[in-house]
Amino acid sequence: MLSHEQTSSVTSNQESNTYPWLSQRAWVEINLSALSYNVKQVLRILSQHTQLMAVVKADAYGHGAVTVAQTVLEAGASWLGVATIPEGIELRKAGIKAPILILGATHTSEQIHAIAQWKLQPTLISPKQALVFSNTLEAINCKTPLPVHVKLDTGMSRLGTNWQEAAEFVQLVERLPHLTIASIYSHLATADSLDPTTMKQQQQRFEQVIAQLTTVGIEPPCLHLANSAATLSDKALHYDIVRVGLAVYGLYPADHLRLNIDLKPVLEIKARVTQVKTIPPGTGVSYSHQFIASDELRLAVVGIGYADGVPRNLSNKMQVLIRGQRVPQIGTITMDQLMLDVSALPDVQEGEVVTLLGTEGKEHITAEDWANQLNTISWEILCGFKHRLPRVAMA
Ligand SMILES: *Cc1c(COP(=O)(O)O)cnc(C)c1O
Repeated sequence: MLSHEQTSSVTSNQESNTYPWLSQRAWVEINLSALSYNVKQVLRILSQHTQLMAVVKADAYGHGAVTVAQTVLEAGASWLGVATIPEGIELRKAGIKAPILILGATHTSEQIHAIAQWKLQPTLISPKQALVFSNTLEAINCKTPLPVHVKLDTGMSRLGTNWQEAAEFVQLVERLPHLTIASIYSHLATADSLDPTTMKQQQQRFEQVIAQLTTVGIEPPCLHLANSAATLSDKALHYDIVRVGLAVYGLYPADHLRLNIDLKPVLEIKARVTQVKTIPPGTGVSYSHQFIASDELRLAVVGIGYADGVPRNLSNKMQVLIRGQRVPQIGTITMDQLMLDVSALPDVQEGEVVTLLGTEGKEHITAEDWANQLNTISWEILCGFKHRLPRVAMA
């Protein structure tokens, strides 16, 4: 009952070193072959000259950054994208040698020292920040120029120099000592939309900056613009690198992009039944008795809750899979536990595995299903699983 046919290794979480994962109450399963499969599917739609940057920020969207990074690089990704310096250092400490772009902003001399020390590649967002970089590297007498990635704001209104001032900014960075421009990039705000108008406008602005640079004799070595949605929607947006997060994890950024590629979800959320009991009609279940049994009911308690990342707003709305069947969750989801109505499977045993996200037989529940129920996006669901859940890598 508690056995698992596939090979596995626990990839993170101190606790799981002490207690074998088979005795865990709840865990995240990471399907490494699905991850490799997705990388190869993405590579198939890229031109020969376009490289894949796997975006592994936020602990690889909750999947576990080191294991994911090793697997995607082996499967053919060339670059890694992270949000912060500590995320980059974690990968370097694990022995990862691939180029790592920090997508977020970095400013202080401490940060610049760490970037140089760990051979990370920063995003340059403004003239002021570029000067701090150059001066700090001068002060530490940096011998080799630091590869930097110049970020343009073409309409996202997030990080970067506005496209109107971008050519001037790039020329400044070109002239600054201790820096070498590794790429020029921008980020799309509406690539998942059915209407391409805004995306095309951003691309036009990007192209316009590149044209301006060409007239002053600057040939950018490398350009990139596409996230998952843009990568799946239009080859004209691929340029030299595509920065793909969500699709690598096997989810689609939008329904209309499903046709363009076959992807497999990488992450599954599992937990164990910890108690099974029968309750009579009229019995209230969980805090505030938001659920009252109308008939006699077979109830299973499961050892996972909102402190693990199961959104409390799914209370009384979600279903889980047991023995390949969907069963309803009942009552308020609590911090560490939730309850199920298993009347349809009355002989469910304590210790049995419940799939909250994932596939059992013909049934599957995805992060997208939860996102739709909660009026949010699958990105947020994936990032929501807490470190209390050990990440278990399945070969
Ligand atoms: C997070 C991020 C991506 C990846 O986005 P997905 O939609 O998950 O593919 C790409 N580029 C930048 C700048 C990002 O911040």
